[in-house]
Amino acid sequence: MKAAVVHQFGRPLVIEDRPIPEPGPGQITVQMEASGLCHTDIHAAHGDWPVKPVPPFVPGHEGVGLVHAVGEGVTRLNVGERVAVPWLGYACGACRACLTGWETLCEKQLNTGYSVDGCYAEYFLAEAAFAARVPEGINPFEAAPLTCAGVTTYKALKVAHVRPTELVAISGIGGLGHLALQYAQILGATVAAIDVTDEKLDLAKELGADLVIDARHEDPAAVLKAHGGADVAVGLAVDSKSFETAYAGLRRGGRLVLVALPAEGSLTIPVFDTVLNGTSIIGSIVGTRADLSEVFALHAARRTRVIYQERQLSEVNASFDEVLQGRAPARLVLRP
Ligand code: NAD
Ligand code: ZN
Ligand code: ZN
Repeated sequence: MKAAVVHQFGRPLVIEDRPIPEPGPGQITVQMEASGLCHTDIHAAHGDWPVKPVPPFVPGHEGVGLVHAVGEGVTRLNVGERVAVPWLGYACGACRACLTGWETLCEKQLNTGYSVDGCYAEYFLAEAAFAARVPEGINPFEAAPLTCAGVTTYKALKVAHVRPTELVAISGIGGLGHLALQYAQILGATVAAIDVTDEKLDLAKELGADLVIDARHEDPAAVLKAHGGADVAVGLAVDSKSFETAYAGLRRGGRLVLVALPAEGSLTIPVFDTVLNGTSIIGSIVGTRADLSEVFALHAARRTRVIYQERQLSEVNASFDEVLQGRAPARLVLRP
């Protein structure tokens, strides 16, 4: 089978032949139909973060495909069923985080396409318990972006406790942001969309954003403040400075949710203002299996739109460039 492999950080991925993996106990082998390209895969391939994957490795954690083989003891999935394999590839199920609904914080977790090989391949392995069944009626190319971009932003808005009529600012209308915007609308918020490319600003308008802010020409904080300030701002732009701007655009009692993970990302905040204004800063990492099933249910009910274009797996390096240059439509989805 073909797989796209990172051998060295910052170097192009190499398409190579590998044996089709055999599932061990509790595992499945998935035949890939669609594999979303999350910006996280680019951070992984560049070694951008303090905790690094170990080359050689196969990135990819928005993997959708058909169960090809099941390992010993797997009873919940059958060969031929369509599944989605997310970033949370495994959690222990026994620690305090796992037992209290926070499996995404499990210290024993394994991450697809990072600590274990991911889905930039014709076939990949998954722990059966962490592969989500894709409901009938959702095509694999839409299911793939929902598997990370969808569940991550759905969870980010959940932890922000968005209430109807609140002003929610979405900073970065890329793969994650175009879905964040829609979940904020579903929760009844007034939505401000911030980006730095004409295409993404147009997309935000098309998706019905109430306020569209071009951060190249306007100060998002000033625009948000002119509208009373944002109750919630969600940081999805791969740019540390955008967090500070989003923070500055909050109203009193505002919540800033950090989601994007720029290399060497940091945020300096004034203690006095944070205390006096009762501001919350919340870090949010992907979502649980339960969150993902809600994301799929919303999509099956036609409440969300996934904006994507297909690319071949063999075009993965050119696809990385498209995303880095901001030329990609909301999401690129690789096909084997
Ligand atoms: P993307 O490249 O598709 O989208 C980023 C968007 O931000 C683009 O539309 C870009 O034009 C815009 N942008 C760039 N600079 C900006 C600025 N200064 N102000 C406003 N917008 C700006 O990336 P993505 O796949 O949506 O991922 C975004 C980030 O989220 C990445 O860092 C990724 O690693 C991270 N991520 C985090 C989690 C998590 O669980 N916390 C999950 C998935 C992805
Ligand atoms: Zn992702
Ligand atoms: Zn655990």
